[in-house]
Amino acid sequence: MAAAGQFSLLSPISPRSIPPNKPFSGTQSPILPTRNRVSITRAKKSGADVREEEIVIVGAGIAGLATAVSLKRLGIGSVVLEQADSLRTGGTSLTLFKNGWRVLDAIGVAGELRPQFLEIQGMVVKSEDGQQLRSFRFKDEDQSQEVRAVERRILLETLANQLPTESVRFSSKLANIETSENGATLLQLTDGTQILAKIVVACDGIRSPVAKWMGFSDPKYVGHCSFRGLGVYDGGQPFEPRVNYVYGRGIRAGYVPVSPTKVYWFVCFNSPSLGPRVTDPSILKQQAKDLVKNWPSDLLNLIDITPDETLSKTPLVDRWNWPGISPGPSRGSVVLVGDAWHPMTPNLGQGACCALEDSVVLARKLAAAIESGPSSTAIDEAFRSYGEERWPRVFPLTIRANVVGSLLQWENPVVCGVRNRVVIPKLVRLGPMLEHTDFECEPLVSAK
Ligand SMILES: Cc1cc2nc3c(=O)[nH]c(=O)nc-3n(C[C@H](O)[C@H](O)[C@H](O)COP(=O)(O)OP(=O)(O)OC[C@H]3O[C@@H](n4cnc5c(N)ncnc54)[C@H](O)[C@@H]3O)c2cc1C
Repeated sequence: MAAAGQFSLLSPISPRSIPPNKPFSGTQSPILPTRNRVSITRAKKSGADVREEEIVIVGAGIAGLATAVSLKRLGIGSVVLEQADSLRTGGTSLTLFKNGWRVLDAIGVAGELRPQFLEIQGMVVKSEDGQQLRSFRFKDEDQSQEVRAVERRILLETLANQLPTESVRFSSKLANIETSENGATLLQLTDGTQILAKIVVACDGIRSPVAKWMGFSDPKYVGHCSFRGLGVYDGGQPFEPRVNYVYGRGIRAGYVPVSPTKVYWFVCFNSPSLGPRVTDPSILKQQAKDLVKNWPSDLLNLIDITPDETLSKTPLVDRWNWPGISPGPSRGSVVLVGDAWHPMTPNLGQGACCALEDSVVLARKLAAAIESGPSSTAIDEAFRSYGEERWPRVFPLTIRANVVGSLLQWENPVVCGVRNRVVIPKLVRLGPMLEHTDFECEPLVSAK
């Protein structure tokens, strides 16, 4: 391999294995056999220096694992590099709408997830004094709608368990990326490991170093932060399966049952600056409660019973990838998926849903390109087609999520009065507001 000798080895290569006693088990099956000329990612050494891989996915979040699972279903192996020493085990839940579920169906994991999470029937909107402003039933608006709040940990574990154990390498943090000869990409990890990859799928999240390398600007803070937590009721949670929103002035909160014992909540508030980073759970809890101290007691009780490890405070950011100003989602043999490409605010609950959509769309196009050759032209064409299909989907959603967030964070008492007395009770229609969850997705099956 011509390029290999140009790089010196900083440390011996040692694939990371899954730490014992982690819930991730991984299938023990060998990596699926390759089709055509792309050999599947059983690593081989090039000289003594640089490890070579076919497809490297950076990031074992939702996008990274869903892409690896999608490729695997199409008969293509990959290696997933994750900076952390395990799957993200803390955190709360994500509300997945029907577009997310269509993808999870297509990649064969929805059946395992559905029974663990309640199907949310509708939503109720209240003012901060507890008065009900409006209620909706999802199925009244769209018979095919499906909404469940899914624990992130369980979603990640379920995806990872579809993959061969050795294909997810933990403690593998990407430190540097550069284009090498013949269109390959050299990845350097913080421990000195070097990997020469034919294809890199960067799923490294909102602060993606790969996106930065491709010329993307940093995501921008939108002026509000969100406290989140997952309340646990050992004796069973008391709520109906619906989303509860409470709208105040410059502050809004929500809570939604996840399972028979767990309820997810958030409190989103305006803050012109990020303020000091706080990680002490007791301070986070107190700050969240202070924001909503005169609000319905359900919410306050829920915050009180929330275990420390699920509490977080997140500044909300996004990036508007304007055509002609932002780079496209690929550069050479490197392509971005999920938040790495299109960070969006969570106001529509679409970040993870869109990351899942990206994964299947990209996997199909990549598989077709590999099937046809693969030549670098075919891979280029697959990436171009992915960008063309996905940009019109994710760009408007990014803007819409931002605008919805700005409207919901209004502070002006007159505007909030009109919102609570006229807009929400009389004007809002839920159906059109959820049309963005329409997304068809056939099962991914290997043609082999
Ligand atoms: C407050 C809040 C609420 C949300 N609610 C919802 C919701 O209800 N529904 C919804 O659909 N979406 C929601 N989202 C959005 C959702 O969380 C993201 O869109 C989703 O997590 C994106 O997945 P990802 O895999 O692209 O990125 P991530 O989940 O961030 O995964 C990136 C992975 O890459 C790894 N990584 C990063 N850098 C490196 C490196 N240098 N080397 C190796 N690995 C690296 C990270 O450790 C991580 O594991 C919410 C977001 C926020 C902030």
